Amino acid sequence: MFFLFLWNPTIDTEAKKEDIPLNVSVNENCIGCGLCTCTCGSVFLMLDEGVAAAKDEIYPEEEPLVEEAAESCPTHAIIITREV
Ligand code: SF4
Repeated sequence: MFFLFLWNPTIDTEAKKEDIPLNVSVNENCIGCGLCTCTCGSVFLMLDEGVAAAKDEIYPEEEPLVEEAAESCPTHAIIITREV
């Protein structure tokens, strides 16, 4: 019996970064300045406690503004991870 294995370089078997969902959270360093809600109001909101929170599901088109918000946060309270 003869088996022929072909390698096709156009088939990408590894998950691309964009395919992995983004997880965003706000930690205890938040001082409630509201900058993240101004930068990306579709993801971040202010809670009654005076600190920010992030929604659970992040759409790919929101990712650039989420990253901008994290970079702009004065206390580095926005944590971004990707599920694997
Ligand atoms: S920018 Fe940072 S400190 Fe300001 S509200 Fe958002 S998470 Fe909190």
